[in-house]
Amino acid sequence: MNDDGTALKDQTIGRVTVLFGARGGKYPHGNSLLVAGSEETVLIDPSLSIAPRHSALLRVDRVLNSHCHEDHIAGNHLFPDAPWHLHAADVAGIHSLDNMMAIYGYPEPIHSGFRKIVVDQFHFTARPDAVAFHDGDVFDLGGMRLRVIHAPGHTRGHCIFHIEPDDVVYLGDIDLSSFGPYYGDAWSSLADFERTLQEVRRLDARWYATFHHIGVLDGRAAFLERLDRFAAVIQTRRQRLLDFLATPRTLDEIVAHRFVYRPQDDVPFASAVERRSMTQHIEQLLGDGRVREVEPGRYIARAV
Ligand SMILES: [Zn+2]
Repeated sequence: MNDDGTALKDQTIGRVTVLFGARGGKYPHGNSLLVAGSEETVLIDPSLSIAPRHSALLRVDRVLNSHCHEDHIAGNHLFPDAPWHLHAADVAGIHSLDNMMAIYGYPEPIHSGFRKIVVDQFHFTARPDAVAFHDGDVFDLGGMRLRVIHAPGHTRGHCIFHIEPDDVVYLGDIDLSSFGPYYGDAWSSLADFERTLQEVRRLDARWYATFHHIGVLDGRAAFLERLDRFAAVIQTRRQRLLDFLATPRTLDEIVAHRFVYRPQDDVPFASAVERRSMTQHIEQLLGDGRVREVEPGRYIARAV
C-alpha cells in the first residue's frame, strides 16, 4: 500500500517484474526487481516496500544487492533462507552492523542516531555468510542471465546488472534523479563516480530501471538524456563551489553553505555528507590548480 491507500504498482518486462516502491520509490522507499528464470528467481534490492508484498512473492531463490546501503537491503531479512549476494568491495557491510556503519563513516552524534535508524527502520540484519560477486560474473537463472557490471563511486562495490534476453539494465543508485550523484559517504568516491558515469554512457539496452524515482526508461535516447542531466549536477556543484570561493572560505563555511542538500532539507546526516562530498571537490580543484589554499584550511578560487 502507498501512504494514500492506493495499491503498489508493478511493471512487467518479459520475465522481469519491477516492484515499484511506495511514493514512486522516493527515499526511504525504492523499486526492486524480480527476475524469474526457469531454474531460479532472483530478487534485486529488496526495498521497504517488499514487506507488504512478501506473501505474494511465490519464490525467491537468491537476493542480490546492487550495493550495501540501508534502503537497498531493507527487505533482505524477509528471505533468511536464500543466499544474499553483494559485490566483493561492499559485501563486508552486510557481514556486521559495525562494517555497515563504516561504509557511511559518519561522526558522532550522527553515527549513533543513524545506526539506530538502520536497524529499527531498515531492518538491518547481519549475514556473515553473504556471498561476494565480481565484475563480469553471470548468474544463469535458466533462460535468463544476469551480468554484473561493477560501477563504483556511490559506494566502493556499487554494481549495475544487465538482464538478458529481456535487455533490462538495472542502474541501482545511478538513479538519474534531479538530486544528482551521491558521493557523500566514507566509501563513496567522486572520482570513481565520474569515471562510472562515462562508462555507463556506453551501455546499450532496451530498458533502464533505477531504484528511486525514475522507475523504467524505454530506450537509450531517453536514458542518455536523463544521464547527462544527472551527471551535470556534479558540474553545477563544482561551479557553485568555485563561485563561493571568490573569497577565501574554510571547509566549515562550505559545509554550512550547502552544495548537496538545500538549506531547507531536514536531513540528519547533511553536514557529514556535505563535508565528505565537498572535501572531494576541493581536493580535485586543488589538484587541477583551480583552487589554492591561502592559509591552512582556507581556500580561494584562482582567477581564470
Ligand atoms: Zn545507495
